[in-house]
Amino acid sequence: MARAELMDFDKALELFEPVIGLEVHVELNTATKMFSSAPNPANSQFHDAAPNTLTTPVCLGLPGSLPVVNGEAVKYSISLGLALGCSIAPSSRFARKNYFYPDLAKNYQISQYDEPIAFDGEVEVELENGRTFTVPIERAHMEEDAGKLTHVGGSTGRIQGAEYSLVDYNRAGVPLVEIVTRPIFGGEADTPALARAYVSTIRDIVLSLGISEARMERGNLRCDANVSLRPRGQEKLGTRTETKNVNSMRSVERAVRYEIQRQAAILAGGGTITQETRHWHEDTGATSAGRPKSDADDYRYFPEPDLLPVVPSNELIDTLRAALPEPPAVRRRRLKGDWGFTDLEFQDVANSGLLIELEATVKAGATPAAARKWWTGEIARLANAADRDASGLVSPEHVAELSKLVDAGTLTDRLARQVLEGVIAGEGSPQQVIDARGLAVVSDDGALIAAIDEALASQPDVLAKIRDGKVQAAGAVIGAVMKAMQGKADAARVRELVLERAGQGA
Ligand code: ADP
Ligand code: MG
Repeated sequence: MARAELMDFDKALELFEPVIGLEVHVELNTATKMFSSAPNPANSQFHDAAPNTLTTPVCLGLPGSLPVVNGEAVKYSISLGLALGCSIAPSSRFARKNYFYPDLAKNYQISQYDEPIAFDGEVEVELENGRTFTVPIERAHMEEDAGKLTHVGGSTGRIQGAEYSLVDYNRAGVPLVEIVTRPIFGGEADTPALARAYVSTIRDIVLSLGISEARMERGNLRCDANVSLRPRGQEKLGTRTETKNVNSMRSVERAVRYEIQRQAAILAGGGTITQETRHWHEDTGATSAGRPKSDADDYRYFPEPDLLPVVPSNELIDTLRAALPEPPAVRRRRLKGDWGFTDLEFQDVANSGLLIELEATVKAGATPAAARKWWTGEIARLANAADRDASGLVSPEHVAELSKLVDAGTLTDRLARQVLEGVIAGEGSPQQVIDARGLAVVSDDGALIAAIDEALASQPDVLAKIRDGKVQAAGAVIGAVMKAMQGKADAARVRELVLERAGQGA
């Protein structure tokens, strides 16, 4: 993919004001689909199902099949709307969005259009640097997901150049809520970070509600990022592009930054921005043109005649409101107190979007300090190297197990890092990796003493120095023993034993 010409980011900000709008699709983890009794693959219970096994005539758009609204999905959507500070519509309607695509068997998607279930909300978002923003929410509406196409035979996995395509209707009809923001102003140089923090906050909210698995790498949470620039001093908004399905938080930030730089170069060169969708390429860190998309795209929306309006009772709304979990901002303050972290330490965790992982790790038995060390240290480093989000790399339970093994002296930090790599590579739990790779610390003094005696015998000058009371000379022997044990020894214990064997022990 040829990289477009990019303007230096700071220079772009001098000339233009960036404006973004974010559309986040959340797959709900209800047991069944939005309009049928088919099991829902967005629920981890059914995630591994073979293609086209989670379907009913409704998902396949067979003649005579009729949709039925999933009450659970409606409740989840109302809870989400309330958590986003939205008003809940006393009556909202489904609408048909008509278009043909092979992953959409009915040739229309059931969505909501002019009567969304939730509207006019706002979300508090906190950035790494401590800046806070109120992001205005335009609406949150219910809809169904389409199936999934796999394009086979080409080099890119895209339809262009493919020999044939496979379709899997398992995802067809998965319940979705699409959350749409109003245009977001004022982010300035923090705009890419703001986009990321917003998605991270939405993830926190849906996880705390328990209404979605929210795993971006599985497509449970997908973000389309609209970006436009307007010249400083201009009132009218610039033309936006919509970068589709950016599937990690890190990529959201990168994609927005890239579009700002790309659009700035075009505008400064006297060009114009085409209103279009764009694809994000994780490997090259660039976007490429998708399809032109005008605001007047006509999907011939009309009210869905097969479904009644959704009219939630006030009682139901009140019950759901009363059951809302604490808002992320409140939760942060509480966790910070519970964990006893400094501002900086807490920011570090919050910025990496790892609060939920940390909380779960502490709940599974790790100390807050150890949990923080693992997630923001080694795991974040490995995630970065693999271009993935740390959250999906390893489970909190495994991290807790690892940290407990270190505390118990079964693993040194160094061994624990090797075990972690095994866990991430899918070799099982920390204990299973230790067993399979033989990584535990050698705690048997006999084995250590044998190695120590050998090292002392081969370095008689060092032995003499230690006997003379120059205990710092022991370092050379300790090093040799650690090497002989391939790092699988506790250095402090080795030191004790070296001094003992050299006649300097306590
Ligand atoms: P579409 O059907 O194109 O997806 P939506 O209304 O679902 O339209 O979403 C459009 C998103 O783009 C909203 O978040 C909106 O706030 C945002 N948006 C609209 N105009 C602009 C603009 N000029 N610059 C940046 N974002 C914009
Ligand atoms: Mg949209």
